[in-house]
Amino acid sequence: MGIHNVMEDVVRDTLLTYKNKMNLACDCDRCLNDIMALALNELPPRYVANQSLSPYVRAAHETDRQGATNIITVIAKSAAKVSASPRCETYAQKH
Ligand SMILES: [Zn+2]
Repeated sequence: MGIHNVMEDVVRDTLLTYKNKMNLACDCDRCLNDIMALALNELPPRYVANQSLSPYVRAAHETDRQGATNIITVIAKSAAKVSASPRCETYAQKH
């Protein structure tokens, strides 16, 4: 029901694929959500009315190599910002 922002799926997939290469200070759910939120504020949304269509929109997006590069760049920038000052309990307890 309702509309769905396919960019959320793309950012989540990309973040999970690349997080090990991004030198995250912390990779708990809270920090990953912070990174996703920051990245999604910078990236254009891609709304679909029917979520069953989203794999097709995603496939179309992934063939856009310029777009894909930009998404990784934005996520890496967001990851660097969150890693510079993680706001989660997990990180606070360890430091
Ligand atoms: Zn954390």
